[in-house]
Amino acid sequence: MIDFSIEPEFQAKLDWMNAFVREECETMDLLWPEMGANFETHRADARRHLKPLQDQVKAQGLWACHLGPHLGGPGYGQVKLGLMNEIIGRSSWAPTVFGTAAPDTGNAEILAMFGTPEQKQKYLGPLMDGDIVSCFSMTEPQGGADPGEFTCKATLVKNDKGEDVWEIEGEKWFSSNAKLATFLLVICVTDPDKPLTERMSMFIVPTDTPGINILRNVAIAGDRDPENGHHAHIRYEKVRVPFDHMLGERGGGFKVAQARLGGGRIHHAMRTVGICNRALEMMLERVVSRRTRGRTLGDHQMVQDKIASSIVELEAFRLLVLKTAWIIDEVEEGRLPHGSARNHIGMCKIGLVKIYHDVVGRSLELHGSLGISLDLPLAKWYGGHMSLAFADGPTDVHKSQLARAYMKKAKPVDGIFPSEHIPTRTAAALARYPNARDAK
Ligand SMILES: Cc1cc2nc3c(=O)[nH]c(=O)nc-3n(C[C@H](O)[C@H](O)[C@H](O)COP(=O)(O)OP(=O)(O)OC[C@H]3O[C@@H](n4cnc5c(N)ncnc54)[C@H](O)[C@@H]3O)c2cc1C
Repeated sequence: MIDFSIEPEFQAKLDWMNAFVREECETMDLLWPEMGANFETHRADARRHLKPLQDQVKAQGLWACHLGPHLGGPGYGQVKLGLMNEIIGRSSWAPTVFGTAAPDTGNAEILAMFGTPEQKQKYLGPLMDGDIVSCFSMTEPQGGADPGEFTCKATLVKNDKGEDVWEIEGEKWFSSNAKLATFLLVICVTDPDKPLTERMSMFIVPTDTPGINILRNVAIAGDRDPENGHHAHIRYEKVRVPFDHMLGERGGGFKVAQARLGGGRIHHAMRTVGICNRALEMMLERVVSRRTRGRTLGDHQMVQDKIASSIVELEAFRLLVLKTAWIIDEVEEGRLPHGSARNHIGMCKIGLVKIYHDVVGRSLELHGSLGISLDLPLAKWYGGHMSLAFADGPTDVHKSQLARAYMKKAKPVDGIFPSEHIPTRTAAALARYPNARDAK
């Protein structure tokens, strides 16, 4: 039975989070508003302010909640995480304050799942403590995130000491936070003749390794400096890493990447609920405050349509996200088979772009010129929905996959009419009960 009721102890945690995010994390958004500032571990002023807040989160047992107990986290499960992320999603600093900022969350998950004890000690520990940031380097400039098009390769060569080392050559695109990261997780072709899902391996590459050439740090809408964004175009020029720097098995890169992306997609969806809730709150405040033609904005029916549509659509999306979280938890507990959540995760990824666009867009519209100005957060958020359309794979690919998964279950009809054809069905019903419509 699906049950989203919340125990009083956990509700108390959510209440604490709600107040804390509004008071502290949103304050950090105002003090350090630059995009990506939360990843800049070298910013002494922000870090000084951040540390005591992170300590409060740890004291509440709310740090790095995306990791289950077997992976070193508190393990609240995805439903509770969903409720928490709705609150965290309100603020751009909150994920860092709570130790759940992407891409570090997904990177920590796969290090915890596939890392050797040495890899975990060296990379996972500092990452979990929030002392360093990391980068996931997968997308390629010529082929996006389609693994069939990847050309960045790693080959086994001997170093000067005659030891086996991996040598990486190729380019990656939009490797977020590479310029700030201590290490990169790079997926490379190691076995080009194998089937697609066994062709690649994942490597841990420390960023001080010679040969990592950041060609540009590409900026996106919202970044201040077009030449100093957060998404690196990297050329790996004979980058050599020790033999033991492979994460997971040789040929297991696809599996590692898939394990990472599922969690990321639902976390984005959960946080989208948070940002949409905030946009809706702003919308409601605006329409009861602003007057036009002798009435409040909220007295106009077109405005009421925007409010009602936002409420209904957001509630429906929120339930989809929670149901998906519930399915993931059931799979984790072994009550549903592996893979049961796949379609629902796709639905969340597809749905989040639209709800984000619609609710934030309506709120922006109701705020008029102020809405599009940088005096309110709405214009910045509005641009964010398209980033989410691409991050963790294009939405259109998920649409295709979802449609194909459902079509696979559909059976073609015998004959020319659909199985719901009323005359055909009525004839069959009469054949079964020939006297049913007799007067006597
Ligand atoms: C803010 C942001 C952060 C990112 N961070 C990272 C990161 O840290 N690491 C990383 O490796 N990558 C990252 N990416 C890259 C992201 O994974 C890619 O943008 C995404 O996979 C799409 O690749 P692409 O941009 O090359 O678009 P393309 O692959 O060129 O796709 C463009 C469009 O073509 C259409 N399309 C493509 N494929 C299909 C298909 N199979 N079926 C139907 N239509 C299709 C869709 O409309 C799609 O939107 C990030 C992207 C963004 C926007």
